[in-house]
Amino acid sequence: MSEMGEELKRNAWMQMNEEEVQAAYLFADSYIDFLDRAKTEREAVDYIRHLSQEHGFTALDQADTIKPGDKLYFEAKGKVCALIIVGQQDLQQGINLVASHIDTPRLDLKPRPLYEAEGLSLLKTHYYGGIKKYQWLAIPLALHGVIVKKDGSQVQVQLGEDENDLVFTIADLLPHLAKEQMEQKMVDAIKGESLNALIGSRPEINGGKDPVKSAVMKLLEQHYGIEEDDFTSAELQFVPAFKARHVGLDRSMVGGFGQDDRICAYTSLKAILDTSVPQRTAVCLFADKEEIGSSGNTGLQSLIVELLVAELMQKAGCGDYYAVRKALADSYCLSADVNGAVDPNYLDVFEKMNNSYLGRGVVLTKYTGSRGKYDSNDANPEFVGKIRRLFDENRVVWQVGELGKVDAGGGGTVAQYVARYGMEVVDCGPAILGMHSPFEISSKADIYMTYQAYQAFLSSFAD
Ligand code: MN
Ligand code: MN
Repeated sequence: MSEMGEELKRNAWMQMNEEEVQAAYLFADSYIDFLDRAKTEREAVDYIRHLSQEHGFTALDQADTIKPGDKLYFEAKGKVCALIIVGQQDLQQGINLVASHIDTPRLDLKPRPLYEAEGLSLLKTHYYGGIKKYQWLAIPLALHGVIVKKDGSQVQVQLGEDENDLVFTIADLLPHLAKEQMEQKMVDAIKGESLNALIGSRPEINGGKDPVKSAVMKLLEQHYGIEEDDFTSAELQFVPAFKARHVGLDRSMVGGFGQDDRICAYTSLKAILDTSVPQRTAVCLFADKEEIGSSGNTGLQSLIVELLVAELMQKAGCGDYYAVRKALADSYCLSADVNGAVDPNYLDVFEKMNNSYLGRGVVLTKYTGSRGKYDSNDANPEFVGKIRRLFDENRVVWQVGELGKVDAGGGGTVAQYVARYGMEVVDCGPAILGMHSPFEISSKADIYMTYQAYQAFLSSFAD
């Protein structure tokens, strides 16, 4: 037998036995189902709430006191939530936190979106998060979200998911007339103001000045009981209308929208559902607004982690300010987010010794940031060392990661926003290809290893 090459040795598939390979494929099936059901942060929260209820989690705000073994659910604004299993150790000694995010780059509707032009009716959008605009043209789009009427009642919208349902789209310019456009820089070629989606083309008879828009508005009134001004208090998002799929002849990969970061949300969700009473209190947090800087009152800059820990400690009978601060400072966190996998089509932006690969297991990313680690949480080596040992002891296949070559660009995660409490934190999640595109690619071996990594951390990480 020939000596196995160094690269092949690092491949997660090569280190898994037949049983683990089968488990990884099975795990990916339920993950694909999750991707299709939870395309927005609100839908992800609904999914997590339902599944956790089935597993015996109850609302934290309904609990008078808490004790080891209690399974609790925390939610705010329908867009950020957390699952908690109270550990045997005193809460004052800190928690083990896995923090992922459930928002995704997409196209949001503007507050006054609807208009008519050249006999067509369109919806204006304002993109959310870091997108390459051309990727959103000429694909079927679904519209998801909520409209809040003046009386406070809510209308849920989900159009375009059923195969027989209608979809929306943003038409791209024909190549025949794109001579000037094709000569522009990519960043300038598609204007944000041109991301307007088709919503109708059939005029209403006697429909006035804008008969197509008027016909569309009539349909919206009939189906949803809304008037045009109701768009002002709505949260509506265009997302790709297609489903997540198995990728490759060997079906070893998953392709789908929103894997950054629902891949970490789902693997950490499954990990905590499969955790029994841990030594340290285990918490999985599913955050919103990471893609736009963790801002807003559902993002992690809102100090919601502090609110959660304070509520837990108050119910455990030790909720004074110093005790809460100390518990936070003595906590451990895996910032559960994806890294960019080395892409064979774009090797010039990667540094192969330190960047992460598809299929080599979960990635430990010591630091992110840009322009010299700016805005990065640079994890302490003492903590990274402990996590390495934990993974090795639990047969978790893992690799190191850094986002691309130095000065090729950069990015961040929630790590810096949990680090401000003083807790130890390191970025840990799978590497994916095509990040922030409508069809991101992950490896089923990595998905499984990420689940194993989070479970080991939540159930047995102490010191
Ligand atoms: Mn992310
Ligand atoms: Mn992202």
